[in-house]
Amino acid sequence: MILDPSAVPGQVAFGSDLVARIEVAVSLVNALATTTAGGRPVPAPESDEELRDRAERALRDADALRSPLEAERAQGLEQLARQLREIFAAVHERRDDDAGALLNKLFARSGATPHLHRTGAEPLHLHFHRPDAGFVQGWTAGCAVGLAYALGSGHGDRLGVCAAPDCDRVFVDLSRNGSRRFCSTACQNRVKAAHYRARQRAGG
Ligand SMILES: [Zn+2]
Repeated sequence: MILDPSAVPGQVAFGSDLVARIEVAVSLVNALATTTAGGRPVPAPESDEELRDRAERALRDADALRSPLEAERAQGLEQLARQLREIFAAVHERRDDDAGALLNKLFARSGATPHLHRTGAEPLHLHFHRPDAGFVQGWTAGCAVGLAYALGSGHGDRLGVCAAPDCDRVFVDLSRNGSRRFCSTACQNRVKAAHYRARQRAGG
């Protein structure tokens, strides 16, 4: 399975590029479109600078920051993150057709199209936008293709929303058995501890 590059050790992971795009989508949603994380409310950014910092961090965390962001691009990414969030929520709630319709909208709006091009002396690289696409348009196309690939190849269940209370962070499940339910071990431990306390109370 491509979404699990470790499944066949030694084999070329043709899907790693798509996984990288899903990881950018996850990072953008978690940095720019969550209202709660790890049991705490996430306040909206208070200024353009804060929004830009968060957007830059999101791209850096996904190893996708190539140069400092302008405020306008950060705003475009925030809007994209909200749309991606809706798609994660739809997939999570098994509303696959809704998720598909939202993804098709993102394809149309971004003018997504496969295109091989090279940067400088690097080898040819498959992009999902034309070389003249705008920055946000390019990421819209890339993230949409990544999520659509998962959804359209029977791996929609690998796109998750954290199961812990007061946490709406999202994740891509790359585990071997696909049993991940939480955004982080912190959330997993929080839920475990709550269950333990509940059992203690029930027991005595
Ligand atoms: Zn969580």
